[in-house]
Amino acid sequence: MKCTICNQKAALHLEHHNLALCSDHFPEWMCKQTERTIQKYSMFRRDEKLLLAVSGGKDSLSLWDILWKLGYHADGIYLDLGIDQGTRYSCTSGEMAQAFAAQRGLNLTVLDIRAKYGESIPEMGARTKRGHQKPCSQCGLVKRYLLNKAALDGGYDAILTAHNLDDEAAFLFSNLTHWSMQYLGRQHPLLPATTGFARKAKPFCLLYERETTAYAYLNNIAYVYSECPYATGSKQLRNKTYLNRLEDEQIGFKYQFYTGYLRALEAGAFPAGQETPEVLEQYRCTNCGQPTLSDGLCTFCRLVKKN
Ligand code: SF4
Ligand SMILES: [Zn+2]
Ligand SMILES: [Zn+2]
Repeated sequence: MKCTICNQKAALHLEHHNLALCSDHFPEWMCKQTERTIQKYSMFRRDEKLLLAVSGGKDSLSLWDILWKLGYHADGIYLDLGIDQGTRYSCTSGEMAQAFAAQRGLNLTVLDIRAKYGESIPEMGARTKRGHQKPCSQCGLVKRYLLNKAALDGGYDAILTAHNLDDEAAFLFSNLTHWSMQYLGRQHPLLPATTGFARKAKPFCLLYERETTAYAYLNNIAYVYSECPYATGSKQLRNKTYLNRLEDEQIGFKYQFYTGYLRALEAGAFPAGQETPEVLEQYRCTNCGQPTLSDGLCTFCRLVKKN
């Protein structure tokens, strides 16, 4: 197959766009698509200070590379979750993120959760009843809280995450099958800042995982290949497998599924969720001052204070 633009050998066939691109034109296309998504949803500007959640994986490192090439000012933050027993997963991911930042002269903050809060994510999970099998709910809570705190404390205009279209389609599938109206009301690529919460944006939300993987490969980006060991057998991975089957049968299925949902969301089909300014003005955590939905400590402070 030949590149649609220059007729050289194509590196990737993007069937849903009816496009084949060579190893020169595909990375250019990725930059253009990312810029288009940033503009389409008015995510952020070049004069703003951005904080990117970096995991050391292909998505976050590819996004950081593209933002850097496009002239956006994004610092990185790596949360060391302490998931290392038998795998060195966190250790290796951190090394990848640090090497990437050093090669390009980019700023990366490393936040070691065990050093700061006395326990790794698996240790927090093992201590709480719900986390006796997998620490994913504690991990999600800790990541959301600390990214938001780092953005607010550091005076950043927005937090960016590198969730891709496969991630978003799998979240959407799960949210729809459970009719989780709270989440269905806020799975937008851009969540504006609200009381106590920084703006959040997902510039890769319309790009397939195979595209971000190909970008990392063609740009010689060294990233951690392995998934977190706790991801094995997770609902999210199973949903991805089902959606891959649908995508195999119907080219562009995930894109249609997610963008159709976005049109419905923008038309007001789902309620905005609980975190409205009026609700968030009601209570503040007595330890950290973060808005909460009830009196006393916020869920993060309850978790790390070992109640
Ligand atoms: S699978 Fe994801 S959420 Fe679960 S522990 Fe690993 S990184 Fe955290
Ligand atoms: Zn070409
Ligand atoms: Zn708190």
